[in-house]
Amino acid sequence: NSGENTAIKWAIFQPESSDHANYLLKLTGELKQALENNQLNIYHQPQIDLRTLRVCSSECLLRWQHPKEGFIPPSVFIPIAEDMGLINQLTLWVIQQSLAQQAILSEEYGYNHMVSINISGKDIASKHFFKQCLDIIDASNIPADKIIFELTESASFAYNDHALKLIEELAELGVTISIDDFGTGYSTMSQISHLPFQELKVDREFVENVNDDNKRKIIAETTVKMAKGLGLEVVAEGINSQADEDTLRKFGCDIGQGYFYAKPMNLDDYIDWLKNLVNGRIKQPVQGEFIPA
Ligand code: C2E
Ligand code: MG
Ligand code: MG
Ligand code: MG
Repeated sequence: NSGENTAIKWAIFQPESSDHANYLLKLTGELKQALENNQLNIYHQPQIDLRTLRVCSSECLLRWQHPKEGFIPPSVFIPIAEDMGLINQLTLWVIQQSLAQQAILSEEYGYNHMVSINISGKDIASKHFFKQCLDIIDASNIPADKIIFELTESASFAYNDHALKLIEELAELGVTISIDDFGTGYSTMSQISHLPFQELKVDREFVENVNDDNKRKIIAETTVKMAKGLGLEVVAEGINSQADEDTLRKFGCDIGQGYFYAKPMNLDDYIDWLKNLVNGRIKQPVQGEFIPA
C-alpha cells in the first residue's frame, strides 16, 4: 500500500519556512510533470451500504508517488494545485481516470457500483472546466447517474451564482452532489441549503471511535438525524471498528466508509479485495454492466 502511513512526514511540513515559496514552485513544476509522466494514480476506497452490507460506491482518491520525495499526500499537494492554478487540469485527469477504471470494474468484472470523485471549489468556479467535465462524462461509458461529485463544505462557502448554476446543471444531468467533510467547514447549513445536494458525508472527526467521546457521539447523532430529516443519503467516513459501525447504523446512517472495511487501494488490489468478499460479511457490489443512457 503506497505510503498510507507516511503522511506523518508531511504533517511537520513548515509553511512559514524561508524556502517555502521556492519549494512551492518546485513542487508545482514536478506536479505538472507527474501529470504528464504517469506518476499519479487513482486509489479506491469502498463505501458500504449499511442497510444491505453491500459495496455501493468507491471513492477515487488521488495518489502521487514522487520519484525522490516518495509518497506525497493529497492534503499537501491539492491545496498547492489549487493555489498554483493546476487544480482544473488535475481534477479533469482524476475524472477521466476514475470513469475509465469504473468502466473496467463494470464491463470486465460486472462490479456495478457508484463512483465518487472529489471536486475542488476552484473547479466549480470555472466555466471552461465545466464544459470539459461534461465532455469527459459524455465520452465515458459511465452514465451520469452512477457518478457522485463530492464537494467540501468549506469550498461551498465561496460558491457564487455562477457556480450554483453549474452545480444545478450537473444535478440535472443525474450526477449526485455530495457535501464532503461535513461539520469541519466554515459554512452553515443555511449557506449550503440552496445547493441541490442529495448526500452528506459526516467528517471522520465525529465518527472515528464515536463511542469514546460523548460530545462526538452527540454531534454524529444530531448530524445524521438532521440530514435524514432533510431527505439526504448520509455517509459516515472514518468507520474504524464494528462499534463505530453499530453506533452510526443505530443513528440512521445509510453508508459507511473507513479503515474498518478497507484502506484506499490501487485498481488491481481493489479488484482482488472485491473478489475476496465472496461468502464474507460484506457483500460484493450489484452485478452487471452499466447500460449507457
Ligand atoms: P476526503 O475526500 O475526506 O477523503 C477521505 C480521506 O480520509 C482519505 O484520505 C482517506 O484515505 C481517509 N480515510 C478514510 N477512512 C479513514 C479511516 O478510517 N481513518 C483515517 N484516519 N483516515 C481515513 P486521503 O486519500 O489522504 O485524502 C485526503 C483528502 O484529500 C481527501 O479527503 C480530499 O479532500 C482530498 N483529495 C484526495 N483526492 C482528491 C482528488 O482527486 N481531488 C481533490 N480535489 N481532492 C482530493
Ligand atoms: Mg471525499
Ligand atoms: Mg471526506
Ligand atoms: Mg474527511
